[in-house]
Amino acid sequence: MQNSADRSRFRRRLLDWFDQNARDLPWRRKKSLYRTWVSEIMLQQTQVVTVVEFFPRFIRRFPDVPTLANASEADVLKQWEGLGYYRRARQMHAAVQVIVDRHEGKFPDTFDEVIALPGIGRYTAGAILSIADDQPWPVLEGNTARVYSRLLDFDGDVTTSAGQQELWSFAESLVSRSRPGDLNQALMELGSEICTVRAPRCLECPVSRHCLAFQQGDPQSLPNKGTRGMVYEDLQQAAVVIRRGTRVVVRLCGPNEHWSGLWDFPRFTSTPSATRAKLARQVGDRTGLSIRLDQPFRQIRHAVTRFRITLDCYEATDVSGRLRRSKDLRWADINELDDLAMSVTGRKIARAIQKR
Ligand code: SF4
Repeated sequence: MQNSADRSRFRRRLLDWFDQNARDLPWRRKKSLYRTWVSEIMLQQTQVVTVVEFFPRFIRRFPDVPTLANASEADVLKQWEGLGYYRRARQMHAAVQVIVDRHEGKFPDTFDEVIALPGIGRYTAGAILSIADDQPWPVLEGNTARVYSRLLDFDGDVTTSAGQQELWSFAESLVSRSRPGDLNQALMELGSEICTVRAPRCLECPVSRHCLAFQQGDPQSLPNKGTRGMVYEDLQQAAVVIRRGTRVVVRLCGPNEHWSGLWDFPRFTSTPSATRAKLARQVGDRTGLSIRLDQPFRQIRHAVTRFRITLDCYEATDVSGRLRRSKDLRWADINELDDLAMSVTGRKIARAIQKR
């Protein structure tokens, strides 16, 4: 797409396709800066089908900035449970405090003000302002990176700053004053529905005549993600320390931990050769309790971005001693676990022990 006439034809074809094929998603039915922001944050690293379920519930509970700002962080995290990546919820809660302090509770509508909010980068600021307010800002995220790479037949590493620069420049060249929000949504929709990772449906693609990778015949080889496409295995062990069959030890994850602000069971990174005795010692050091561990009662597998977690869960027997005094460590009734915000894997452990 070397010239502006070509880009105009591209936009027209893509928007025609979007007008006919746009999915009916809850956040598209009524637009506002706040609702678009909530949906964009939820959609980061979470599948659309999951967000479709969570978005209406979250909006009912927190319909506007003041309601979200007045809620406790624990309440926000609880409503976020199941979406994962809880840092997003904490940053949203921090962002609404800033909006109340600096913008009188009204979601800002300039790029500089929006990007200054916690948890918002260049993509999210552009997406919010283009989608909710039709401002002409470009977008670049996972779906559009794939689409742009293929349209350009760009085989440079898209995870490097040079690769990102190339794709952002292309995104900027596509922006127009006419329907910029719809164009951005159409580009992302094309990536998620037609120009998919493994099997792009080029014969159904409304912009195939503009696509250099299609013409070269090998679009699925793009984008080039360099070594960042690698998947890492993460072995973990968790100990469920139960007393009298009804109470269990839980700990609140600290500010520098992955699941900061969420409750979890004593959990440790492991190795294939780690022993139960070692885990029992680690639990003892952390809790002050003396325990013995049975065979694992459950193995949980869970994928988070590039990490594949394998979590072996053990039940502790012969529990003795006194739980260390700490505001981050306590006994909880097994039925009370439902009221505590937990990570996806923490919740799976809780469900497993509630069913026993
Ligand atoms: S022609 Fe194929 S590779 Fe190119 S944008 Fe369309 S779906 Fe993607």
